[in-house]
Amino acid sequence: MYNPQSLRAEEFISHAEVMDTLSFAEAHKDDKALLSEILAKAAHRKGLSHREAAVLLRCEDPDVITQINRLAKQIKLDFYGNRIVIFAPLYLSNYCVNGCTYCPYHAKNKHIVRKKLTQEDIIREVTALQDMGHKRLAIEAGEDPIHNPISYILECIDTIYHIHHKNGAIRRVNVNIAATTEEEYHMLKEAGIGTYVLFQETYHKESYEKLHPTGPKHNYAYHTEAMDRAMAGGIDDVGLGVLFGLEHYDYDFVALLMHAEHLEAVHGVGPHTISIPRIKRADDIDPNDFDNSIDDDIFAKICALIRISVPYTGMIISTRESKAVRERLLPLGISQISGGSRTSVGGYDVPEPEDENSAQFDVSDRRTLDEVIHWLMELGYLPSFCTACYREGRTGDRFMAFCKSGQILNFCHPNALITLQEYLEDYATPDTKALGNVFIQKQLAAIPDEARRTKTQTLLREISAGKRDFRF
Ligand code: SF4
Repeated sequence: MYNPQSLRAEEFISHAEVMDTLSFAEAHKDDKALLSEILAKAAHRKGLSHREAAVLLRCEDPDVITQINRLAKQIKLDFYGNRIVIFAPLYLSNYCVNGCTYCPYHAKNKHIVRKKLTQEDIIREVTALQDMGHKRLAIEAGEDPIHNPISYILECIDTIYHIHHKNGAIRRVNVNIAATTEEEYHMLKEAGIGTYVLFQETYHKESYEKLHPTGPKHNYAYHTEAMDRAMAGGIDDVGLGVLFGLEHYDYDFVALLMHAEHLEAVHGVGPHTISIPRIKRADDIDPNDFDNSIDDDIFAKICALIRISVPYTGMIISTRESKAVRERLLPLGISQISGGSRTSVGGYDVPEPEDENSAQFDVSDRRTLDEVIHWLMELGYLPSFCTACYREGRTGDRFMAFCKSGQILNFCHPNALITLQEYLEDYATPDTKALGNVFIQKQLAAIPDEARRTKTQTLLREISAGKRDFRF
């Protein structure tokens, strides 16, 4: 029944295989020889199978957990360096016909204020985002064929790419909208999107159907097979994620890795990103109503294990999580974070009044983007506004090959420095600019190729002199 190459959800996410895997993990969680073998395999940076990762997840030996964390840190540094890519979500509309029990946008919620951005609203919102310094957005919308048809999403993308305020520009739009048809994915590809992101929420079919009692999202197979249609539609970069807290975490952890293996087996390229959100409070949603919530220790372990299991995949943590949790997870494999986020429909240009709450979840990290940039540099991380790979056509398997070839330090690192310099010149507070200028000079030394280092120095000077938008 289990077949990672099948295009049928129930075969590539076989329930029997997940349950067998969990039994195997329970039986072998203290098997020292096997644990050493798995850790040794992880140290070769080629990733782990879902079964191997499950054994490590079940193991509670503090020494093993220390080794997992050490490996996650090392693999993160080897493939991503100290860069952290920055993005912001932009909620276009909270109209939704689905009945998801964990999301305040569900159709039966008559309390939440329903909003949908017009193209004029988008110009104001994106101008405000550009004035913060953002270059990369993730657009989000509920599923509603009347209010949010694909034509509306495409129009919004076109509007966003055409807004240029002062030196600002959105250079990459990632899209998080409901599962759709191959034809509509092709339209998104033609519109120039970056990553198509769709959270599975949970891979447990029975729970999935209970959590999605009404609406098109109720269809487990259609939702779970969406990434195959997206890839068939020409989208190279897809982003997976589960909402931890809905189902028992070990089931979704195993199935998430099986989904990644399926994409690799069928399309020759795994997920571009994996997001790891946890359920948060929002309008009529109380996280305490869900009894599978996970504590910070398990959350950190899951993060580290995903990093060592799929070394080349980007990992995203949003402002759902607090500053403290984000700080804990950053060294364990996170490569992208949002900053200065609003999870309401609108709210970047003019903050939403308290009595007009349209947010999908409460933001835990409420710092400004400038505060986030300052904080990252103080911790030794290099904030990056780079979008070069996508714009140079290094997507899908080309990106993975590039990542595996270890060229990060000669491409991504200089691109991060160049885009950070743009940020410092155009948007940073004096404090952040002073810190950033010193930081960039120190970080130049990490570029191994001398000619590339010299060229980067030249470009940094040109940016200070007013030029923009360079990339390697
Ligand atoms: S999770 Fe998505 S589909 Fe479900 S109610 Fe919220 S916006 Fe709608």
